[in-house]
Amino acid sequence: AGLSMSLYAHTYLPLPLIAALGTKEQKEKYLIPALKGDKIAALGVTEPGAGSDVAGIKTTAVDKGDHYEINGSKMFITNGNIADFVVIAAKTGEGFNMSMIIVDTDTEGFSSIKIDNKLGMHSSDTAQLFFEKCVIPKTNLIGQEGHGFYYQMNNFQEERLLAAITGTFVAEWSLEKAKKYCMEREAFGRPIGKFQVVRHKLAQMAIKVETCRSISFRAVAEFIEQGNKAETIITMAKAYTGEEAIKVINDSLQLHGGVGYTEDYGIARAWRDARLLSIGGGTTEIMHEILGKVVLDQVEHSDKMSKETAKA
Ligand SMILES: Cc1cc2nc3c(=O)[nH]c(=O)nc-3n(C[C@H](O)[C@H](O)[C@H](O)COP(=O)(O)OP(=O)(O)OC[C@H]3O[C@@H](n4cnc5c(N)ncnc54)[C@H](O)[C@@H]3O)c2cc1C
Repeated sequence: AGLSMSLYAHTYLPLPLIAALGTKEQKEKYLIPALKGDKIAALGVTEPGAGSDVAGIKTTAVDKGDHYEINGSKMFITNGNIADFVVIAAKTGEGFNMSMIIVDTDTEGFSSIKIDNKLGMHSSDTAQLFFEKCVIPKTNLIGQEGHGFYYQMNNFQEERLLAAITGTFVAEWSLEKAKKYCMEREAFGRPIGKFQVVRHKLAQMAIKVETCRSISFRAVAEFIEQGNKAETIITMAKAYTGEEAIKVINDSLQLHGGVGYTEDYGIARAWRDARLLSIGGGTTEIMHEILGKVVLDQVEHSDKMSKETAKA
């Protein structure tokens, strides 16, 4: 899954912001080459001191007349070491006042280090980024200054929808692997798939896969109709599949016995990679926080976000 994560961290994280809000020049310089595969893109929101709390980021973009001076750092940035440009969130004022700015990685003062001790997703590049007095032209600001928080809250929807679809796919794949193995592997003179406890486990896995599929389909359908305003169902799909897919993969590994713990059947790798599903793009707890506001406080996030972005 590392390769697909790198591809979607390029296509679906930074590029929709430029496509939706970028200037003609930004589209020509960054979007078109990125879509052609001539430039690699990354999105830098998370920092060493702030992940879930996006408004708590410390990277600053200080107005210096015709340019911004950017100082700070970003953490866990997919494609960060190989990107030609990074769309970053940087503070341009207090509180929620932040802006999305394109930073070319050949800018003086930009550097990165590889994070190579991850649990999984080993084929995907992950970086910590550093910005020291980076001089970035004002023309690299995406949309309006100070609106970056709302742009990014909107932008999370595609990433979360993809996470839900990915989780569903990996859960389906793991169930199929388990079904096959349970009919091949024999113990006590019969295929392990003949034991009732195994059959019931497979049945429960199938229910989880089906519910992941249903909620993801529904989220995709609403996204096609409403775009980022489908936030509630997308958040539910991300929260639900993130947790349930991990359980299905874990059960599949268990049903494989000792070979599940080796690299021979691919299930160990899926187990490692999938653990990110409930963390990346917003943790399950943060999905529940968003949903708590929708369910209990009747706060329509997408309404607020679209009002804010409409100001742009
Ligand atoms: C492999 C990988 C790739 C990534 N790629 C990118 C990328 O390309 N770009 C990018 O910007 N980021 C990226 N991230 C970062 C990812 O989005 C964050 O790790 C994630 O949002 C969580 O932030 P955090 O790690 O700072 O955890 P924290 O925010 O410190 O959270 C730690 C724990 O506290 C919980 N918590 C926090 N706040 C609350 C609350 N209010 N209520 C209840 N629980 C709470 C969290 O749910 C979590 O369990 C990547 C991460 C990884 C591991």
